[in-house]
Amino acid sequence: MKNVTKIGVFTSGGDAPGMNAAIRAVVRTAIYENLEVVGIYRGYQGMIDGDFIPMNRRTVSSIIQKGGTVLKSARCLEFRTPEGRKIAYENIKAQGIDALVAIGGDGTFTGAKLFSEEYDIPVMCIPGTIDNDLYGSDYTLGYDTANNTVIEAIDKIRDTASSHSRVFFVEVMGRDSGCIALNAGVGGGAESILLPEVETGLEELIQELELAETREKSSMIVIIAEGDQNGGAYEVAKKVKEKLTHLDIKVSILGHLQRGGAPSSFDRVLATRMGYKAVHELINGNSCATVGMRGTTIITTPLAEALSKKEFKLDEELLEIANIMNK
Ligand code: ATP
Repeated sequence: MKNVTKIGVFTSGGDAPGMNAAIRAVVRTAIYENLEVVGIYRGYQGMIDGDFIPMNRRTVSSIIQKGGTVLKSARCLEFRTPEGRKIAYENIKAQGIDALVAIGGDGTFTGAKLFSEEYDIPVMCIPGTIDNDLYGSDYTLGYDTANNTVIEAIDKIRDTASSHSRVFFVEVMGRDSGCIALNAGVGGGAESILLPEVETGLEELIQELELAETREKSSMIVIIAEGDQNGGAYEVAKKVKEKLTHLDIKVSILGHLQRGGAPSSFDRVLATRMGYKAVHELINGNSCATVGMRGTTIITTPLAEALSKKEFKLDEELLEIANIMNK
């Protein structure tokens, strides 16, 4: 078992609300356990560029409530090469860093696993992405906040939709994952929800809209995950308009506003528990694993397993409920 004395912490890949709360938890837990902590700016790029900052309790003051990441993030092509990783290793060695906490998505985890194996450096990962598409945790950091952001947007769109008897097609993030679309769709009372994981033909959607019309609904909102097989919201709206020419259809793409904003209470607490766990796992000799939450328990999963497995994250019962609520 390697004796951990100095932890390097970084955020990588797409930012997500809750990353700052996780950084804070890593720093404060490590200091409490008499370890040193170094912040690495811009993920793997900062490792290669030698962009480090010593962290103390004060450097993480008042960040728990902030979206984005104070350590910045980057996509780093050089780290994908053995030469790039060698430079990164020499830089962290020169800093005296002997363990890492990586906060990010599956690309970040892949890099962390490779690096840990190549240079025998203990690494723990924390899942930070709004998409909730990682194996090993019921929830990823930022997902709950993104759901709340989308629901708030749907509520606002609903005001206009019902004032003008309009139909809105709202596109939300999720290339491979319909988690945000399903949860925010149910929470926002959407009339229909299109998800990448569930095939919904356009005919079926048109029937649902016709049914909603017969019920004299004053507004209709269709939530579409960006990765839906029918295409994005503009494409689906165009095809529906060809069939239901009388409908006043508008499209709204929520885009990057879903990634920002103050983390929800849930994400702050989850991030704090995950950061605490990651540091203790390193102290106890665990490495090459990701922290996650199953039920209400914080657990770890080996990166080899987390990266090779997929889990169907959509709640089957919620899918059924969604179909009843919109009738
Ligand atoms: P998101 O879910 O937001 O996309 P991510 O962590 O998956 O987050 P990526 O851009 O895929 O984001 O990965 C982050 C970084 O991890 C990459 O820019 C790269 O530096 C590193 N990385 C990804 N894949 C590999 C790999 N196969 N080998 C080495 N490093 C990698």
